[in-house]
Amino acid sequence: MPVGFIGGSGIYDSLPLEDTRERDVTTPYGDPAAPVTVGTMPDGTEVAFLPRHGRDHQLSPTTAPYRANVHALKQVGVERVLASNAVGSLREDLPPRTLVVPDQIFDRTRKREYTFFDEGCVVHMPFAEPYCPHVKSHLADAARTAAEADVEEDGTYVCIEGPQYSTRAESEHFRASGFDVVGMTAIPEAKLAREAELCYATVAGVTDYDVWKADSEVTLQEVLENAAANEDANKATVRHAIEQMPDERACDCAHAVEGAVNTPTEAIPAEVRERVDLLVGDYL
Ligand SMILES: [Zn+2]
Repeated sequence: MPVGFIGGSGIYDSLPLEDTRERDVTTPYGDPAAPVTVGTMPDGTEVAFLPRHGRDHQLSPTTAPYRANVHALKQVGVERVLASNAVGSLREDLPPRTLVVPDQIFDRTRKREYTFFDEGCVVHMPFAEPYCPHVKSHLADAARTAAEADVEEDGTYVCIEGPQYSTRAESEHFRASGFDVVGMTAIPEAKLAREAELCYATVAGVTDYDVWKADSEVTLQEVLENAAANEDANKATVRHAIEQMPDERACDCAHAVEGAVNTPTEAIPAEVRERVDLLVGDYL
């Protein structure tokens, strides 16, 4: 089963992949941000890549096709997804160019498609632990081993709608709430991965201090320079995580939807059943 990756396209270029090919995948939720690129590592591990914002970064955090991206990876047989994000730091001791592998998310987004099960088939599933604990730990280990960067395992990623950065009042509020980093893409990606019964974890590169730090006004230039530096660390992390990925999953993600479908099978319209078949067909 291929390991999936959602993030910047630079990671794909950095891996020693053989036999790479593009797969045009369509989904009941529209087209993914780009064709899925599938390749094989020297040890035989397959990898499937999707650039979250499209090949030329033409999709904003609000308009990225999260559902189609996750569904497309599921379709090509992915069971575990690694992601990367750019984030701002809410803590003095998490300076730019730190890698954070969060274990919690606080959702402040407003206008996204949060579920595969929006009508005709209602699914309520636990989301107390938004990241796969096993893949999260594995990714943090990989970062500590392979990346030339400070690594913080665990912490809360507050996800804002964007595309603008936070106001100072919002930033202070997030700090007072005990959150650690702020970004724009963890939600709904993590929710959808869980609904698709995929393991999911993310490595978040700190590009700047968020605006709470009075002497640290965010400029795009500053963000881009740190993002470029983080990319090298992310590449090393993801490569190591893929190379060392255990053969078998040892978590509950593969059965996340079991018992969570609230709509009786006979009440689910045929076209809805067809749409959700890949995700919950086994339980209907
Ligand atoms: Zn898992």
